[in-house]
Amino acid sequence: MNSSPAALVLIGHGSTLNADSSAPTYQHAETIRQRDLFSEVVECFWKEEPNFRQTLRSVNAKRVYLVPNFISSGYFTEQVIPREFGLSGPITRMAEGRELFYCDPVGLHPVMTETLLHRAAEVVAKAGVPIENPRKSACLLICGHGTSLNDNSTKIIQQRVEEIRARGLYADCQMVLMEQKPFVKDWRSHTNCRDVIVVPYFISDGLHSFEDIPVLLGITENVRVQGVQNPHNENGRRLWYATAIGTEPMMADVVLAQVEKFNADHAITTTAESSPASIIGFPLRRVGQVVISENHELRHRNDVAVEASSLRVIADWVAWRELLRTNAQGEFRPLKAAPNLPRGWRFPLASEANVALALQFLYPAALANWHLWEQGKLPVIPYLETADRQTGRYRIVRALPAAALEELTTTVCARSCLKQRLWGPNPARITAATGELPLLCPEACNYFIEKAREKIKGPQTAEE
Ligand code: SF4
Repeated sequence: MNSSPAALVLIGHGSTLNADSSAPTYQHAETIRQRDLFSEVVECFWKEEPNFRQTLRSVNAKRVYLVPNFISSGYFTEQVIPREFGLSGPITRMAEGRELFYCDPVGLHPVMTETLLHRAAEVVAKAGVPIENPRKSACLLICGHGTSLNDNSTKIIQQRVEEIRARGLYADCQMVLMEQKPFVKDWRSHTNCRDVIVVPYFISDGLHSFEDIPVLLGITENVRVQGVQNPHNENGRRLWYATAIGTEPMMADVVLAQVEKFNADHAITTTAESSPASIIGFPLRRVGQVVISENHELRHRNDVAVEASSLRVIADWVAWRELLRTNAQGEFRPLKAAPNLPRGWRFPLASEANVALALQFLYPAALANWHLWEQGKLPVIPYLETADRQTGRYRIVRALPAAALEELTTTVCARSCLKQRLWGPNPARITAATGELPLLCPEACNYFIEKAREKIKGPQTAEE
């Protein structure tokens, strides 16, 4: 693929409970960003910031590829994402002259077959215990969730299984499922092969790949804490377990393959038109808990007077994202604008464009929201409209009483967040000191929606 002036938006599900869900989306976006193929590479999530609706405000390119980092098509890829991005089909031409190219979910691309084979071979190679002749003695099991609500993912797995069987690289290949037949817990009777390799067909690691599937397989160690100890020996048979396929580094190539496929399917050619780099547009010195020096160095605002040599240098974007992921106690930070950014670091950057990118990770869409606010164009979304867009177990937040809503805007927004809330009862009067970027909140975030649900139903459990 040639270097393109287009932007890539990688769309993940995310979670308000842990960082596992969004980690692969960040990982693959970073890999693609380093290849310098797009003018911008942006991540966004349904359950984390930046959310779907705000994402396009932060993108400058006229052509934008949207790639769902989802394992199959279904409710999210067919209804939620098109609705949230305002899509009218595979190609959407927006009023401001922007084109949105909506690609298929990564899990549908045929190159996933190569990715599965790579992951299976790698898990054996890493263990240092070879399988002498996998064509005779090994069975590859592709493990999905299995649910009566959406059988698209099982169809996709079955397709992958048939493609792998046709290659003849393993004595057998089968689909197994957590919650319906053929059950993964029955793996011993599905095959007579001495060696059995299990690869979960999930987009991210988490409860299923770290806990549920290992238990169903009979693996007793704590995979999340100890990692995978392969192979597991049982009555003369050997079991090899890989973590979720979505964490495989090759998935970045699957994302790019979906873009290539879209271009081929829709006869899209790249153009010479350039898109402007992200700009700040004013001498920015402070935003949230961070200060920015004239020579583009970021620090925690409480570390301004600290000797530079005493601060840990953030060397790259991966380290920056890792810093932002947890608080000083190592706990996940689901709310990006929570005032709990760790101290003790400095992030020297080369340009204003890099500062803008760092801010996009730190406080997603903050710069774009401020520019829109200054122009009187920032849409402010009433709570009920945000609540109406919620799906599944979050639909109930529509029933939040007005008094409870007001209480949450105090306990969640005013006490736990640095943003100035524009929606709901008693919205903020926006104030900004010279050189400061105000953090604006134009609609209830996913963290707030989570708290609204808790207010009605009680705390969410990890199993939900
Ligand atoms: S809804 Fe409240 S907690 Fe969420 S970003 Fe806005 S102000 Fe912060």
